[in-house]
Amino acid sequence: MTTQKVGVIGAGTMGHGIAQVSAAAGLSVVMVDISDEALARGMAAVQRNLARQIKSGKLTEADAAALVRRIHGTTDYAALADCDAVIEAATENLSLKLKILKQVDAQLKDGAWLASNTSSISITELAAATAKPERFVGLHFFNPVPVMGLVEVISGLQTAEATRNAAQAFAEAVGKSPVTVRNAPGFAVNRILCPMINEAIFALQEGVASAQDIDTGMKLGCNHPIGPLALGDLIGLDTLLAIMDVLHRDFGDPKYRPAPLLREQVAAGRLGRKSGQGFFSYKP
Ligand code: NAD
Repeated sequence: MTTQKVGVIGAGTMGHGIAQVSAAAGLSVVMVDISDEALARGMAAVQRNLARQIKSGKLTEADAAALVRRIHGTTDYAALADCDAVIEAATENLSLKLKILKQVDAQLKDGAWLASNTSSISITELAAATAKPERFVGLHFFNPVPVMGLVEVISGLQTAEATRNAAQAFAEAVGKSPVTVRNAPGFAVNRILCPMINEAIFALQEGVASAQDIDTGMKLGCNHPIGPLALGDLIGLDTLLAIMDVLHRDFGDPKYRPAPLLREQVAAGRLGRKSGQGFFSYKP
């Protein structure tokens, strides 16, 4: 199961990043989205990333041009027919993902494997909705994909060892360090990270310390490169709330309940960096 040609569904934040690192590793990439505009946005983001690398002397103009030529953007799922693997990185919505997986199933060649980059949906549940659950695996990249070294390789109950191994080899081939994770709510990293950020929000809400002091405490006291509240703002407080809701629902354990202040911030539209205001202000 060597992966030479990879399909990526979605040209958004994660999809274009996965396409970029795959093409950088010399693979042929088919990137599928629903509109030419979405594909153009994804390609423009890749071009911006590459321009930064050229400027800093890490990449030549010629290599960047060759990398871009290896990414074929299309709205036609039929272009996935000769891919060795397809990674779904479309919007985080269960019914949309189920619809997409059916479309991909109809195209996938024998021997190809299929992955989802979902942050919170059960890999076992997604696998069960596909024609061959044993060839389905979770491949959870981190944002921004070209920068972050980690990929969680998540086996659902049905994932075959050969599928897991192929996905792990792919992650290594695109320059990432994979860790092996069994399917569980939040997988490994978000299960640990998100409750920590949630706890920082509880501390803020209870007046234990100011937002600035909580973040300074965790940076200087624990050597974290960024404070938990600033990290929540970076992830997006709506996304953080969605993940905490999944952990709370799927474990049925009150220790995962989202902090009321987190809900309040989301209700106010204070979503973090993307809205200009979260626990900190990002207005110019
Ligand atoms: P995004 O909103 O930036 O991009 C989603 C893309 O999917 C859009 O371009 C959209 O047009 C496209 N899309 C929607 N329906 C489609 C369809 N039917 N066929 C093809 N493309 C379609 O979202 P994102 O942040 O890139 O997230 C994508 C996935 O990655 C989600 O499952 C998310 O949970 C996961 N994820 C996100 C992050 C993150 O920090 N953003 C990190 C890890 C994993």
